[in-house]
Amino acid sequence: MTPQRLEILREVSHRTDHPDAELLFKAVRKRLPTVSLDTVYRTLWLFTEHGLLQTLGPRQTAIRFDPNLRAHHHYVCVNCERVWDVEESLVSPSDVSAAVSSLGTVVATHVEIRGLCSKCLTNTSLHPPRRG
Ligand SMILES: [Zn+2]
Ligand SMILES: [Zn+2]
Repeated sequence: MTPQRLEILREVSHRTDHPDAELLFKAVRKRLPTVSLDTVYRTLWLFTEHGLLQTLGPRQTAIRFDPNLRAHHHYVCVNCERVWDVEESLVSPSDVSAAVSSLGTVVATHVEIRGLCSKCLTNTSLHPPRRG
């Protein structure tokens, strides 16, 4: 583990905002001015391959990285694109297994709930939400 990788891991691990590589790059660069976006990308994928991170997706925009490895769902604001974790118990594999029994078994579920977050809801008159 190089100091650069350690710093990238430290940054992504304490964030709950599901950042993409570019956001992480900007944050890490403050402490490691020599780090490149390419290094951040490669390190994040390395961590993902080793099971330290998971990615959210599929999304139209950049891949985002998540230090929360427990099974959980996401609430995505269609306006500001912030992402919050939602407890897995909301939609558990047993809930959906009957619905997909003709297709096969269920190993995991990932629900992406899309909506307007409370902050954007208050600002809707100023910034109408994008379709998404
Ligand atoms: Zn929002
Ligand atoms: Zn998450």
